[in-house]
Amino acid sequence: MRPIQMVDLKQQYTKIKSEVDSAIHEVIDQAAFINGKAVTEFAAGLSAYTGSKHTIPCANGTDALQIAMMALDLQPGDEVITPSFTFIATTEAVALLKLRPVFAEVDPKTFCLDPAAIEKAITPKTKAIIPVHLYGHAAPMEEIMEIAARHNLYVIEDNAQAIGSTYTFSNGITKKTGTIGTIGTTSFFPSKNLGCYGDGGAIFTDDDALASRLKMIANHGQSRRYYHDLVGCNSRLDSIQAAVLNVKLKSLDAYIAARRVAADYYDSAFAGHPKIRTPYRASYSHHVFHQYTLVLEGVDRDGLNEYLAGQHIPSMIYYPVPAHRQQMFAEFGGGNYSLAITDWLTERVISLPMHTELDEEQLRTISFAVLEYINK
Ligand SMILES: *Cc1c(COP(=O)(O)O)cnc(C)c1O
Repeated sequence: MRPIQMVDLKQQYTKIKSEVDSAIHEVIDQAAFINGKAVTEFAAGLSAYTGSKHTIPCANGTDALQIAMMALDLQPGDEVITPSFTFIATTEAVALLKLRPVFAEVDPKTFCLDPAAIEKAITPKTKAIIPVHLYGHAAPMEEIMEIAARHNLYVIEDNAQAIGSTYTFSNGITKKTGTIGTIGTTSFFPSKNLGCYGDGGAIFTDDDALASRLKMIANHGQSRRYYHDLVGCNSRLDSIQAAVLNVKLKSLDAYIAARRVAADYYDSAFAGHPKIRTPYRASYSHHVFHQYTLVLEGVDRDGLNEYLAGQHIPSMIYYPVPAHRQQMFAEFGGGNYSLAITDWLTERVISLPMHTELDEEQLRTISFAVLEYINK
C-alpha cells in the first residue's frame, strides 16, 4: 500500500507531469514571469468555469480577502461579521486593515455561519459579512444575501476551501460558490482543491467598477504603468503558477469527483455509528470535500489522533483554536465572546486524509483503524 498522507500532491503530479512540465518550460522560454499569457489565459479559464464576469488573480487567498475589503473602501472601525470557526486568514485580513472582526456562531451541522447569529451580530457599524464555505460545504447564501440586502451590507465569500462547489437557491437557480456575494475570494495554496505549486489566489466579481478597482489595488493601485490612483499592494499571480493552474483547472471536476468518492466511502464505513457524525450535506450545497471532517461524541479525540499516527495514518484538527480565542484578537475583545457551538465543535472535530489519490485499500485501512479505536 502507498503511504497514507493527508494530501498526496506527488501522486497527483505524476499523472499530469508531462503536461505541467511543458507548461512551466513554456513560461521560462518566453521569460514572461509576471502577468504573462498564462495568467490572462487562466483568469479567462476560471471565469468560464465559475461563471464569474471578472476573475482577478492575485498572490494568495489572504491577499484576496484584503484586496476585496480595500476595494470596498471599508474604513477603520467598520465591523465585519465572520465566523470564529475558520482558518485564521479570514479574520486576520479584517484586523490587518484595522476593521473590527465580529465573530458570529456557526451552524453545528454545516460548520458555516448561522444566519440567525449574523442577524444578532449586526450593529449600525456593520459593513460586511464574510461567509466561509468551510471544508467545501456551501454557507447558506440565500439567507445571507437576504440579510445583507435588508441591512445594506457587502458580502465577501471566502471560497478558499470550496472552489468548484455550487449553491442552489430555492428558485432552482444554481451558482458556483464565490460568485454569489459582492466579491468572492479563493486560494490556490498547494493543498487546496485547485492548488498550484506555490502560493496563488483569485478574486471574483460581476461588478465592472469593482473589478477595475480590485485589479488596480492588486498591482500598486496603478491604472496604467507608473500612474498610481489608489493605495494598493503588490499581489500578483506569477506566470509559472498560472501555467500549472491552466493544466489543473481542466481536471478540477474530476478531482472533486474523486474527493466525493472517498467521502462516500468514509460515509458508509461510519454510517449510523452512535459516536461518529459524518459530514452533513445540505441539499443546497454540492460538497467538494476540501476536508472530510468528523464530529466525535464521547471519544478521546486526541487519543484517536495519536492512535492513528501510530498506524502511520495522519489526521488533523482543523482548527485547534477558534479565532475568538487567539491571542491575536485579544485587543478586539475576542475573550469576551461566548461561542458555545464553536467551542463545542473545536473540541470534537477531526479531519481524515482527503485528496484525489486515495484508493480503496487506503480508505479501508483508515476507516478500519478509526473504528477499531472508537469501538475498543
Ligand atoms: C487557505 C485559506 C485562506 C488563505 O489562503 P492563502 O492562499 O493560504 O493565503 C483563507 N481562508 C480560508 C478559509 C482558507 O482555508
